[in-house]
Amino acid sequence: MQTGRLIVLTGPSGVGKGTLLRKLLKRHPELNLSVSATTRPPRPGEVDGKQYYFVSREQFEQMVAAGELLEWAEYAGNYYGTPCAPVKRLLQFGQSVILEIEVVGARKIKETFPCAVRIFILPPTLIELEQRIRLRAQDSEEAISRRLSHAKAEIEAANEFDLQIINDDLEEALVSIEAAIF
Ligand code: ADP
Ligand code: 5GP
Repeated sequence: MQTGRLIVLTGPSGVGKGTLLRKLLKRHPELNLSVSATTRPPRPGEVDGKQYYFVSREQFEQMVAAGELLEWAEYAGNYYGTPCAPVKRLLQFGQSVILEIEVVGARKIKETFPCAVRIFILPPTLIELEQRIRLRAQDSEEAISRRLSHAKAEIEAANEFDLQIINDDLEEALVSIEAAIF
């Protein structure tokens, strides 16, 4: 049986990864989104098991110790990680899986899944990135400045990935992602 493809979308917070992903999944329902575990508290409207599995630091550390995560990273003061079992099961059944993760975790995927397609999403400018994070209005001022200072270092790593796509016009970025995946 042919195994499915593993697709990784990475890039700075606020660049539009989630927005692109939602549209991509609507157009291609055959793609499966991996649900990550995080120690970040849920934002209003977020549901456990849907956007994330919301866990305590202790639970997360247990998952790491038990080898249950495909990759994990600490980002802006919280842990984030990809549960291994669902991803492996889907790939074995020939299904494609998408991970939407930050740069450190995306780097680690290359070691475990060298065949993964890793796409880096870039903002048109840093100023536009800041505006998007502010417009989203979901983060405290402190979280916004932590995310922006991370973003600069993350963008410098863009060339490590298989493909770089600028999310300026949303539709154009989507078409570029589709071209890379299919
Ligand atoms: P991420 O998942 O990378 O953190 P989001 O998908 O939450 O980013 O997007 C951050 C904000 O930017 C949202 O308010 C979203 O509507 C907006 N956004 C996303 N893509 C674009 C785009 N191409 N042009 C303008 N605004 C965008
Ligand atoms: P947010 O708090 O905005 O939901 O996510 C913050 C960052 O964590 C985003 O860049 C997001 O892509 C990343 N992220 C989400 N899930 C995972 C994961 O499982 N592993 C890693 N390494 N990063 C993740």
